[in-house]
Amino acid sequence: MNPANLLEFDLDGLAAFCEQLGEKRFRATQLFRWIHQKGARDFAQMSDLAKSLRDKLSGRAEIRALPVLSEHVSGDGTVKWLFDVGSGNAIETVFIPEDDRGTLCISSQAGCAVGCRFCSTGHQGFSRNLQTGEILAQLWYAEHSLRKRLNTSERVITNVVMMGMGEPLQNYSALVPALRVMLDDHGYGLSRRRVAVSTSGVVPMIDRLREDCPVALAVSLHAPNDPLRDELVPLNRKYPIAELLQACLRYLEAAPRDFITFEYCMLEGVNDTPELAVELVRLLRGKVACKLNLIPFNPFPASGLKRSSNARVQAFAKVLIDAGIVTTVRKTRGDDIDAACGQLAGEVQDRTNAKNRMTRAPITVHRRGLEGSAAMARHTETKQ
Ligand code: SF4
Repeated sequence: MNPANLLEFDLDGLAAFCEQLGEKRFRATQLFRWIHQKGARDFAQMSDLAKSLRDKLSGRAEIRALPVLSEHVSGDGTVKWLFDVGSGNAIETVFIPEDDRGTLCISSQAGCAVGCRFCSTGHQGFSRNLQTGEILAQLWYAEHSLRKRLNTSERVITNVVMMGMGEPLQNYSALVPALRVMLDDHGYGLSRRRVAVSTSGVVPMIDRLREDCPVALAVSLHAPNDPLRDELVPLNRKYPIAELLQACLRYLEAAPRDFITFEYCMLEGVNDTPELAVELVRLLRGKVACKLNLIPFNPFPASGLKRSSNARVQAFAKVLIDAGIVTTVRKTRGDDIDAACGQLAGEVQDRTNAKNRMTRAPITVHRRGLEGSAAMARHTETKQ
């Protein structure tokens, strides 16, 4: 029998696993802390666990990290990892350090089925859902490798955004236990406002998330009306804007002091006119507590789209701000290495498809002027 991957479990799951081994819950809590708070992989290291438990675990369980295909480190401390998830698929994870926080952008799927027009991941199609353990392995690896690099035992990642590759709400059953580990005081201990799920608008799952684990919610809006959004975010044909906004309102009922972050990728001549800004104001003002995050598009060849000029973005932002809508413009980052989220992973997939011979390369470490996260540039900024 294959050893169980302990990264698959939230604390209740780990307690159930330990119970099968005849161990009490407090032992599961100790084990959980060793894994997530101390980054331990070797049961022999877990000095306060009874020897009998360590013996039971070895052979029956493991902490299964993801193989790292490459690591890009920027001058400003931003790190982007490419992880191997098998069968020629790779996923991206990005750490973005700022003065007052460290944000990790995590992938939830290999590829994505939603197919947003401006998204490189969407253009690659869908390969598979990640398991809970693969979602958490990104956080586990990033947190503990960064601590080593920075020579600290303090927490480095203060915020998590589910905004990497994939639509997290289309991988709901794996997502929720992973979120619980992020929030658990014995795990990563992040407050629910420091963990954000970004969705293209899977309405029924927004409702479920509200019940199961109401973390911060970001919604990829990108257009103020259905005809345009149908084109940019095909899921809109199933869950049009009015339904999506109703789901946002219901979500906020569970956390009335919160707000929704709406992401809006600025595409030249497509969704960036002053008229559309006015339409956006009409759609949102006074209807839903929100913040707008305007994201300069990171072009990639297959999209056929262009980034809006700065002047255009500023003019669009002004309409929103003048109307009293809190609006931020995301700084563009990472243009020099991989213009859009999913491009590194796409290259791995292309190589595999072309030659059907992807072998796991040793970790490639690139240290150059990577300014930031392409994934984050595509999506939203972190919230408190
Ligand atoms: S923007 Fe998000 S939901 Fe849309 S295709 Fe890309 S990864 Fe999928």
